[in-house]
Amino acid sequence: MKAAILTSPRDISTRPLEIRDVAKPELEPGNVLLRVRACGVCRTDLHIVEGELPPQRQEIIPGHQIVGEIVDAGTSDLPQGSRVGVSWIGGVDGSCWYCRQNMENLCDSPTFTGYSVNGGYAEYAPARADFIFPLPEALNDMQAAPLLCAGIIGFRSLRVAEVKHGERVGLFGFGASAHLAIAVLHAWNCEVYVSTRGASHRQLAASLGATWVGSENEAPPVKLDRAITFAPSGDVVVAALASLRKGGVVAINAIHLDRIPQFDYDHLLWGERQMRSVTNMTRTDARDFLQIAAEINLKPRATVFSLDRANEALAAVKSDAINGAAVIVP
Ligand SMILES: [Zn+2]
Ligand SMILES: [Zn+2]
Repeated sequence: MKAAILTSPRDISTRPLEIRDVAKPELEPGNVLLRVRACGVCRTDLHIVEGELPPQRQEIIPGHQIVGEIVDAGTSDLPQGSRVGVSWIGGVDGSCWYCRQNMENLCDSPTFTGYSVNGGYAEYAPARADFIFPLPEALNDMQAAPLLCAGIIGFRSLRVAEVKHGERVGLFGFGASAHLAIAVLHAWNCEVYVSTRGASHRQLAASLGATWVGSENEAPPVKLDRAITFAPSGDVVVAALASLRKGGVVAINAIHLDRIPQFDYDHLLWGERQMRSVTNMTRTDARDFLQIAAEINLKPRATVFSLDRANEALAAVKSDAINGAAVIVP
């Protein structure tokens, strides 16, 4: 099969992904085999390909927002031919303290799709049968793919920020994840304030009904109840913190931050403001979000790249050149 393979992580401008033919995955016990119909591109893929996340294997096929059709070893619930999604958490051990406390997102030994096991930048991908999700029929493959990490983890960010109906919520950065979160926030009657770099991202936020849109350095005109940051930048986290009312929460939706700069505790964190990271996702988050997405008819904006252009897709995500999400179709 054709796949995009990473052997030596480095800057995306040097085209680290090699597109070549490899053996089709062997079916292991507990897994299903998927024919990949589409695979969303996530900023985490960029962190893997550029080496900000340390390599887990000598060779890896990235991609963890897989829309696939089961072509071998279906289950009774999801037989052969079913269209399913695979996300970032490819499996957990089920036995560690976190798994036993219903916090499988924090599992001590998880597998990560497209990082510790091969992912979806390929014609076929394996997946654990208990970590695949049926997808809403109303969505085509390109629309379903970005829901699987950008959507689910964006939704988890709203939970971590403890967003309540009708609140004022800030979104700092407006890429694939935020453009889906805004739809959920509107369904919850929240006012949404967006600070982001790039004129086209600001236009998209305005067209999706943001109450206020500003540049990355502009503070929203009101104090926020909640804020979610999506940029891999500690400066953005501090800007979000500075926009909170007392008792407000910033949820940091990033697997990697450049650093956290020094900031003034007395003015920015005192007053029981909170700063929390968002880590991975649970299967419950996935199922709940996919249900809400179907109910509110959430349709992501997707820009399609062929598998041959996987490097270009990641470069476009890096430079914020895409409105909405990038999706690779093998
Ligand atoms: Zn565990
Ligand atoms: Zn992701």
